Amino acid sequence: MELPLLTRGLVFLSGLVVGSFLNVCIWRLPAGEQVIRGRSHCRGCGHLIAWYDNLPLLSFLILKGRCRFCRARISWVYPAVELATGALFLLVFQRFGLTAAGLTYAALGAALILISAIDARCMEIPDEVTYPGMQLGVILSFFTPELHGASSRWGGLISSLLGALAGAGFLWVIGTVGSWVFKREAMGGGDVKLMAMVGSLLGAGKTLLVNLGFAPVLGSIVGLVLKYRYGKELIPYGPFLAAGTLMAVFWGDGILQWYRKILLGI
Ligand SMILES: [Zn+2]
Repeated sequence: MELPLLTRGLVFLSGLVVGSFLNVCIWRLPAGEQVIRGRSHCRGCGHLIAWYDNLPLLSFLILKGRCRFCRARISWVYPAVELATGALFLLVFQRFGLTAAGLTYAALGAALILISAIDARCMEIPDEVTYPGMQLGVILSFFTPELHGASSRWGGLISSLLGALAGAGFLWVIGTVGSWVFKREAMGGGDVKLMAMVGSLLGAGKTLLVNLGFAPVLGSIVGLVLKYRYGKELIPYGPFLAAGTLMAVFWGDGILQWYRKILLGI
């Protein structure tokens, strides 16, 4: 869908602003701090950060990535998250338009960026995101059955519940068998809850594409590189599930249609 230039600009800008809020959550959620209240401080000197030093992307460029007061380096994660969220919003709304589906996928994408960043940093996926996420997924599916290509609310709801089951159940089985074979935790509980959230919005078909295809392929390629180049043994799986989910959002319907044609001839 071709959006007018002004709309595209506004969409990108709203992505930057949402990304800026995600940054607050990335640092505060794992520490158990409030995310809504409380102004931001420099992590180096503790100085309160003024609004004009807190503009998404711009402030980082103007300050050349350093605190105005103590010159401590500001993490590159801040502008990267803002830019990624802006770009994601642009891609999602260009594809799905300013519709309920567009808004839903933009919100899902924002949640995935947040989860990936926290999982990469702390090797954990916050329940504060996945629990409300899966509940919201089921409710949205009931009121917006189009998300599942369903024609009735109950159709949307059933597809959502089956999706959550396909997302979480599959990983749970892999995790249980894995920890039995390898004698250590193979799949975190956070990954299972993440895929319940994803499944509740994507339905079973696209969710299985993530679990069986995109995520394990991406994960093993990157995992092998990290293992042999940097000797890293344990890598978080959340970012791969997140990237796979975005691939399923954009390409899932096309791939499933292709499978149906090949396997069933319809
Ligand atoms: Zn400082």
